[in-house]
Amino acid sequence: MAKRKNWSKDPWQPTLAFQELLDGKSGNDFNGLGETEPRQPDRVFWVQPSSDGPFGPVQDCIVERHNTVPELLAVYANADRGPSERSEPGKLAEPRSTTAWTDGLQEFALANESDQVGVATIEPQWMYEGFTTEMPFVVVLVVAMDHSRSRELPPSNEHPDWAHEVAVQYNRGSRAARKLTKWIKSQGYQAKSHTGPWVGSMNLIPAAIAAGVGELGKHGSLINRELGSSFRLAAVETDLPLEVNQPDRFGADEFCLGCQVCTNACPPQAISQEKQQVRGDEKWYVDFDKCIGYFNETYGCAICISVCPWSTPGRAPNLAERWTKRIIVKGQ
Ligand code: SF4
Ligand code: SF4
Repeated sequence: MAKRKNWSKDPWQPTLAFQELLDGKSGNDFNGLGETEPRQPDRVFWVQPSSDGPFGPVQDCIVERHNTVPELLAVYANADRGPSERSEPGKLAEPRSTTAWTDGLQEFALANESDQVGVATIEPQWMYEGFTTEMPFVVVLVVAMDHSRSRELPPSNEHPDWAHEVAVQYNRGSRAARKLTKWIKSQGYQAKSHTGPWVGSMNLIPAAIAAGVGELGKHGSLINRELGSSFRLAAVETDLPLEVNQPDRFGADEFCLGCQVCTNACPPQAISQEKQQVRGDEKWYVDFDKCIGYFNETYGCAICISVCPWSTPGRAPNLAERWTKRIIVKGQ
């Protein structure tokens, strides 16, 4: 990959016109930056309709920008997003053990467009403010991205490859989740899908961590032990009786402590070197207000996930093996 400018001394700045769209609001406030008490998260971005979110004009601006690029307009407008999930559950299937249901679910998901599958028990604090669920489990689906399409970053009108790949994989994730929802309902159980890029009723990042999909990286995205950060998520809530996974710990968090690659590569300097308090949790956090302007200008940016060493194809498994040994030696 070409050498990138280190933006630490001269961060990129948004235009005044874009700052006016923010209307004096801070996404960091909605996200609970600096708050020491736990609370449910707010829906901040990718809310439908956009007027239901705090940054409707900014979100509309990003969508309109995407629509000026024919390739991006087409990939969303002509998308196959999977079967309808309006139907009620069918006749209850013969009882099976939770192991048999889990095996059957994984087999179906992996044969129907998911690349990895994890299951977690739903925690109430993952639900966005104003939402609840009666479902006990969430099935988290991983769809891998074609990392080679991140050669020209950030995306631009002339080189929209990565933004196109994001849309392609969100559409695949949607098909995977809706097909799985349909399959679960055909067994007589309840199911509801969550499909990106739109935010649903549940924060999928903590759900994915609990389901063993990855660790949170300094760049605010998940790091997976096989795919690095080159993947997208979809999910299905369900009352199908399932076995749950455990969080996967392979040293990504410790690796981030000594790495500054994404921090130095981020044009608006939105990635903090230190963990921060967010709704009572100390964790890696990306400054929403700094990121969003560049994200808008560049059809989704993604420099941070592309430069992350874990995202280099084939590298994550070796890093995971080495760093798992390190954290075991240190007893973490
Ligand atoms: S997407 Fe990542 S690299 Fe791009 S501006 Fe946001 S935090 Fe920085
Ligand atoms: S680039 Fe380095 S610091 Fe940033 S998320 Fe990846 S490993 Fe962590």
